[in-house]
Amino acid sequence: MAVDTKELAKAGKKEKERELGLGGLIILGLIIWALVPRPPKYECPYCDATFKTKAETITHILDVHFGEPPELIECPLCDATFKTIAEFITHFKEVHLKE
Ligand SMILES: [Zn+2]
Ligand SMILES: [Zn+2]
Repeated sequence: MAVDTKELAKAGKKEKERELGLGGLIILGLIIWALVPRPPKYECPYCDATFKTKAETITHILDVHFGEPPELIECPLCDATFKTIAEFITHFKEVHLKE
């Protein structure tokens, strides 16, 4: 009887994603994504996909890796909340990534 180790690994990964929660995962991914120097291309923090624009990257992340975005996005570094990921990214870059 053969055990499919690939399937087991996949199931384990899914379990971990559930623990973190949708909002937590999105924010974690976006922070990694915002911190990684990426020109001339944008990289998905969850897979090997690359994109030409930020909008394409966000669309891909939401379409492929998540069902729907959380209703309210909380900045993990301050008390600010945002209705859209674009607003959160702008805030994160301007407030927390400025030197
Ligand atoms: Zn991806
Ligand atoms: Zn903040």
